[in-house]
Amino acid sequence: MNPLNVQRLSTDLLIIGGGTAGCMAALFAKRAAPSLSVTIAEKAHIRRSGCLAMGLNAVNAHLVSGTPEDYLGYVRHDNYDVVRDDLVLSIGSRLNSMTAEIERLGVPFPRTPKGEFLSRSPRSILMHGEQLKPLLADAVVSSGVTALNRSPAVRLLHNAHGEVCGALLYQMRANAYSVITARAVMICTGGATGIYRPSNPGLARTKTWYCPYNAGAGLAMGLRSGAEMTSFEMRFVALRTKDVIAPTGTLMLGTGMRQCNARGADYTRQKEDMLGRKLTTCERLLFTIQEHKQGSGPCYVDISGLDRGGYDLLIESYLNMAPSIVLHLLKDIARPLRRVEICGSEPCINGGHGMAGFWIDKDRRTTVSGLYAAGDAAGGAPKKYITGCFAEAQMAVEHFLSCEDAGARTAAAADIESALQEASLPLQVDSSLACTDVEERLQKIMEEYAGGSTQNYETSRDKLLLARSYLEELEQRSRAMSAATPHDLMRTHDTSDRILLARVLVEHLLARRETRWPCYQTRLDYPLRNDLEFKAFINSRMQGGRITVCKRGTAPPYTNEPLEDA
Ligand SMILES: Cc1cc2nc3c(=O)[nH]c(=O)nc-3n(C[C@H](O)[C@H](O)[C@H](O)COP(=O)(O)OP(=O)(O)OC[C@H]3O[C@@H](n4cnc5c(N)ncnc54)[C@H](O)[C@@H]3O)c2cc1C
Repeated sequence: MNPLNVQRLSTDLLIIGGGTAGCMAALFAKRAAPSLSVTIAEKAHIRRSGCLAMGLNAVNAHLVSGTPEDYLGYVRHDNYDVVRDDLVLSIGSRLNSMTAEIERLGVPFPRTPKGEFLSRSPRSILMHGEQLKPLLADAVVSSGVTALNRSPAVRLLHNAHGEVCGALLYQMRANAYSVITARAVMICTGGATGIYRPSNPGLARTKTWYCPYNAGAGLAMGLRSGAEMTSFEMRFVALRTKDVIAPTGTLMLGTGMRQCNARGADYTRQKEDMLGRKLTTCERLLFTIQEHKQGSGPCYVDISGLDRGGYDLLIESYLNMAPSIVLHLLKDIARPLRRVEICGSEPCINGGHGMAGFWIDKDRRTTVSGLYAAGDAAGGAPKKYITGCFAEAQMAVEHFLSCEDAGARTAAAADIESALQEASLPLQVDSSLACTDVEERLQKIMEEYAGGSTQNYETSRDKLLLARSYLEELEQRSRAMSAATPHDLMRTHDTSDRILLARVLVEHLLARRETRWPCYQTRLDYPLRNDLEFKAFINSRMQGGRITVCKRGTAPPYTNEPLEDA
């Protein structure tokens, strides 16, 4: 089973991850410079991979009305003033042109009789999104991009100056490695799920909200290469329909229906009346959890007020993105469900809904030379969704094309050798430790000590210190994970990446000694927001195998501020 073949490849631009951002980046690059050699390395298959394969029915970031500044104002408010204004604004100014790109691919949009997009909020329009990924993939292939499917990247490669200049890929079908060198590398591998225990058990355990195959490989590779990360502690937890995990936004934004507790009380409206403003996204979840704690759960979205036309529209919308909820709603076809139970998902880290990811500049360069990041892998700009991911891909490509100095780079032989050795370790160890056992232990630690869903997403210093030491132990033991098949080998890499990300996440959670985004980040020992000390980013890096954490200001030049030990 040991992959003996090591193939050598080279390209101008290597894009790791052929999902939303990756495919669009490849397309933009080829459109602007047809003679450029562009390669996508994709773990699955670009036709159906990543978040878009989870289904979608709306463009969640489109300016129906308002300006990019209004969009920034909304993102800031929803994230309690800790966001990268420069990144959010740069996204905001391109959102609608990205919707035009989606139309250009041939994706149908429902329209009003006047021909306008059907909107469900000032920043969201309906779309028949089911075909977006295959259409995007077709456009990528016909533009002349090389797509290496079923070829997960496992390590970044560096030249003698420590600049990123390629990657080591594992070609699963051929059971061979590829050393691919490039003038620049772009990480588009999305965020990470599977760090916390999934809410569904057994064979349904991969029915998570976030794409279960996004194990955070790009983030882990970046950390190993010394890249700075931001805001891991701002985990994202989706408020979703229970078990089938369909979006509640479709029920509430799309239909105007409201959340209620088990006794029928509209608790979100009560809170809004009390606060005199609209709830933020994390407050909708927080108040749902509070209803449970007070004995008024479970909570629901009550759709009994929907007329026949509204119900049909809801079903159509769900068929586009989450067909399993349609089976659930229409289980008894004579008596369709009128109340849909809702709950929080398992926490994940991502920079598309949340803002965990690479610390980047306005050109989407990471802190490591030669390495860009875009989409859910890039941090600092929450609520970017599909169109924001496209916009970031475009900005990264524009910068790469403008750089004359991004010349040919050669990977150092010693770097290739050590990458190959590390990547092959699970094939050489003589042990019966399976990655599934390690993953279960990881998820148990994170669930119980680092604020999983069964802990109401809450944690505290002492729990986090235990998580830290258990994770260090687990990382040591995980070196004995063995792999017998190509699939096992890929999963051992996923598990190692998840452990590393969990360790970094715990350091971030320890460092933020306040509660800024309730449920996404709740410290029971510091229950209040502390603007004086923590209206700041928590950032991290790996240095000599150690994780170091720092605090950065929220305005340019994002000065590094002192951070007390946890
Ligand atoms: C369930 C769900 C529903 C959503 N619905 C909507 C919606 O209706 N509207 C909206 O605007 N936004 C929606 N979003 C958000 C939006 O889909 C994401 O923000 C966006 O698709 C992320 O794009 P990305 O390119 O960063 O990641 P992805 O599209 O997930 O791409 C990551 C790619 O990297 C690949 N990969 C992973 N590891 C490796 C590796 N080691 N080597 C090579 N490749 C690798 C994956 O296979 C995948 O193809 C939704 C998200 C989710 C999870």
